[in-house]
Amino acid sequence: MTMGVPNVLDTGALINWPIELLDGGYVVENQRLELSRVSPERMLSLEAANLIWKSPTIESIDQATKISLDTGDLDGLSETDLSLLALVIDIKGHLYTDDYRIQNVCSSAGIKWSPVETVGISETWNWELKCRGCGRVTSGRGRTRFARESPGECEDCGSELRFRKV
Ligand SMILES: [Zn+2]
Repeated sequence: MTMGVPNVLDTGALINWPIELLDGGYVVENQRLELSRVSPERMLSLEAANLIWKSPTIESIDQATKISLDTGDLDGLSETDLSLLALVIDIKGHLYTDDYRIQNVCSSAGIKWSPVETVGISETWNWELKCRGCGRVTSGRGRTRFARESPGECEDCGSELRFRKV
């Protein structure tokens, strides 16, 4: 986990990570329901972890909704997904998620994120970086750190770059 920044954990992390790693992680109330459905035994063992259950503010839910609408990801996001996005905005945290749509929204909005499974890092894929300002597109193939963190700014105009796998 990332030190010094509040870590927000999606349900994949709650299911797959060792309990000790979850200590101090932030989660949203909706995940209780989700987990009880997916893995009731795991939900029980999570009572031993020092998770911080939070509800995001209405303002940040509005903000998360607006950003997801802009990126075209809103339709694919659940209420829990939106709450996690809102919470990470609220507490200026670092989101752990394997959901590609959520990762895309984070990258677009400058929210820090990492995958739950580090296995994905060795994958190769075709990728594209598109500038949100001038529209300049750079593409390539192979491993890239961009899939795990924010790709930075456009060399031409300084606007945010958006990463996507092609
Ligand atoms: Zn640009």
